[in-house]
Amino acid sequence: MENVTPNVFTETKLRGCNPSFVTTSDGVVVIDTPQLPTKAVAMRKQAESHGPIRYIVNTEHHVDHIFGNYFFKGAGTVVNHRELYERFMVVYPELDPFAYAYESVPGDHAKGTDLDDPEGLALWPDRDEYYRDPNKGRIVFTGDLTLRVGDHTFNLLHTPGHTPGQLAVHVPEERVVFTGDTIFSGCQTWLMTSNVEQWLAALERIRTLDVDWIVPGHGPVVPKSYLDVQRSHLMEWKTAVATAVANGWSREETVERVDFRDRFGPVDIGQGYMLDYIQSLNAATLYDKLTGAIPGA
Ligand SMILES: [Zn+2]
Repeated sequence: MENVTPNVFTETKLRGCNPSFVTTSDGVVVIDTPQLPTKAVAMRKQAESHGPIRYIVNTEHHVDHIFGNYFFKGAGTVVNHRELYERFMVVYPELDPFAYAYESVPGDHAKGTDLDDPEGLALWPDRDEYYRDPNKGRIVFTGDLTLRVGDHTFNLLHTPGHTPGQLAVHVPEERVVFTGDTIFSGCQTWLMTSNVEQWLAALERIRTLDVDWIVPGHGPVVPKSYLDVQRSHLMEWKTAVATAVANGWSREETVERVDFRDRFGPVDIGQGYMLDYIQSLNAATLYDKLTGAIPGA
């Protein structure tokens, strides 16, 4: 893992999110868990080498941020925002998160690459066994929550937008904030069913924090100034689709003609094959919101 500061560890080169932990004088706090089983087991071991894990905080309900919790059972109390907790590995018509996590365990197509994870399949839980206890929140809250661990403060800030239960974890003593997917650095932004207006407000809330470093949900660690880049990507997407609507384009035509394939960087590690999916879903979701097909958006 890479050190952001001497106490802050993150891993930005895995398929899945950027799982991280912070070491304190009284144990360790984990922020998001690795999606790949072998990486989850390895990170737990590494974290525990610095002391007992006190808390595991998830920044959002998307599978790449929570699935690995299963491999941290018995290691610290899981803390979830209520909007995250209620969506934890819930199967929706458009996505079965358990199947999606399974599909991502690299097999033959990744042989010989650093994404190859054959032992991951051996660790794979049976679906029923998994759902009996996926290790979701034991502390479930609304609004913000502050944890004190040793001499460290963990301000869990509710910053919805990318997802309804989105959290940013601000650790003032380290001058670091973990934003989850409120920031995608150097890679494509997944809007999915996001609320872009809330997301822009979340960026402004994060801007008020006195920090040097942002640990994003995906992509390299970046300085605080990256907030401007993320803001521009969201605004460009929204403007492009708003312009399509103003031109009278249909939903299909908008999906066909609006994309940012050649800008905003590649898709994050191991997910290049999702590029078309992201472009279509981003455009379609924004189109539905801007035309009122999704009420209240
Ligand atoms: Zn993510």
